[in-house]
Amino acid sequence: MTEKLYYLDSHLQEFTAKVVDCEYDERGFLITLDKTAFFPEGGGQQPDTGYIGPARVIDVQEKDGIIRHLCEEPLPMGIEILCRIDWDVRFRRMQSHSGEHIVSGVAHRLYGCENVGFHMGEDAITIDLNIDLSWEQLKEVERHANLAIWSDLPVKAWLPSDEELEHMYYRSKMELKERVRVVRIEGYDSCACCAPHVNHTGEIGIIKLLDSQRHRGGTRITMLCGQDAYWDYVRKQESVTEISQLLSAKRDEVAPAVQRILKDQQAMREKCDKLSMELVRVKAESVEKTDGNICLFDSVLDEIAQRELVNQLMEKCEGLAAVFCGNEEDGWRYIIGSKNIDLRANSKAINEAIEGRGGGSAQMIQGMSTGKKEAIEASLKTLSL
Ligand SMILES: [Zn+2]
Repeated sequence: MTEKLYYLDSHLQEFTAKVVDCEYDERGFLITLDKTAFFPEGGGQQPDTGYIGPARVIDVQEKDGIIRHLCEEPLPMGIEILCRIDWDVRFRRMQSHSGEHIVSGVAHRLYGCENVGFHMGEDAITIDLNIDLSWEQLKEVERHANLAIWSDLPVKAWLPSDEELEHMYYRSKMELKERVRVVRIEGYDSCACCAPHVNHTGEIGIIKLLDSQRHRGGTRITMLCGQDAYWDYVRKQESVTEISQLLSAKRDEVAPAVQRILKDQQAMREKCDKLSMELVRVKAESVEKTDGNICLFDSVLDEIAQRELVNQLMEKCEGLAAVFCGNEEDGWRYIIGSKNIDLRANSKAINEAIEGRGGGSAQMIQGMSTGKKEAIEASLKTLSL
C-alpha cells in the first residue's frame, strides 16, 4: 500500500520518497513510490501532475491501495528522490472542490437538495441538484456559501470509526465499501470524499455562480471558485470596461445603453424598409412599358424589396422582368418574374443566358449569377422564349 501523504497534509508540495517499482507502459513508465503527495484521480477530481526527480508526472491512478505515477521517463528502483507536485493547479482544484462541498451543503440545508452529479471541468464546475431552484434561490445559496468563506471555518477531513459513522449524518452518493473518509465544514456540510481539501474555508477566496439551467427535473449550476473566479472577474471587468467605453456609458449602465441601441436599430430598420419600398416604387415607375424583357441592376435592395420590384416590373412587360442585386466581384442575386412565360420550363435557357444557377416556380425563379453586368444585359435584351 502506498502511504498517502496528501491525507496527512493537503498542502504538502514537495516531499522525498523511495522508488519501489518502475514498469514500462505503452504510454510511458509507471512509477510506484513508498509514499506520495500526488493525488490520484478520484471523487470527481483530476489527478495531480508534477515531477518525480527529473521525470514529468502526467497521470496518477490508484488501484488496490497502490498509487502509480505515469511518467515520461524511467527511474532506478531503490533511490530516494525529491518529488514536487504542480501546486498552482492542485490548489485551484482544492479551492474548487471545497467550494463545491459548501454550495452542495448550503443547497441541502436551505432547500433539501441532493447533489446528484458533479464535474470539475477546465472552464468551470457544474453541480447537478435534484430540485429545480430559481435563480433567486440560487443567489441565496451563493450568499450563504460566501458567508462560510468569510467565516474562515476549519475544514476537517478524517476517517471516523464505524460507531462514529453510525451516529452522524453525511452526504454520500453511493454505498461505500471502503472505509469512509468524511470532510466536514462545521455548520455547512459533511460529505464522504477522498480528495484533498483546503484547511480553512477562507482559502477558497470566493464562490461565484455563473449560470443555471433545468436538468433532468432538477438544476445544473455552473460556478467558479477561488483563482478561477478571480480571473473570470478580471476578464469580465475588462470586457465591461471596453463595452462601456464603446457606448460612452458607465460600467453599471451598459445594459440600458445596449437596449437603447437595439431600439434605435429597430427604428432604423423600419425606416430603411420604408425607404426601400419607396425606392422600388420610383424605380418601377421610371421604366417604360415594353413587349420584351426588362433588366435592372441594384446594389442595395434586400431580397424582400427586390421581389417587390420584380412584382411591379412584371406588370410593365410581356417578357421577363429581371432584377440583379449585388456586384460583379461577389456575384448577383437574381430574381426573374413573368406574366406570360413559364419560367420553370425555361429556367435552363435563362440560367445559361445570364451565367446563373437557380430555379423556382412557373411565375418566378431566383438564384445567383456570376456574369458581367454588360453581358447579362446584352443576353437578356435578345433572349426570346
Ligand atoms: Zn468531494
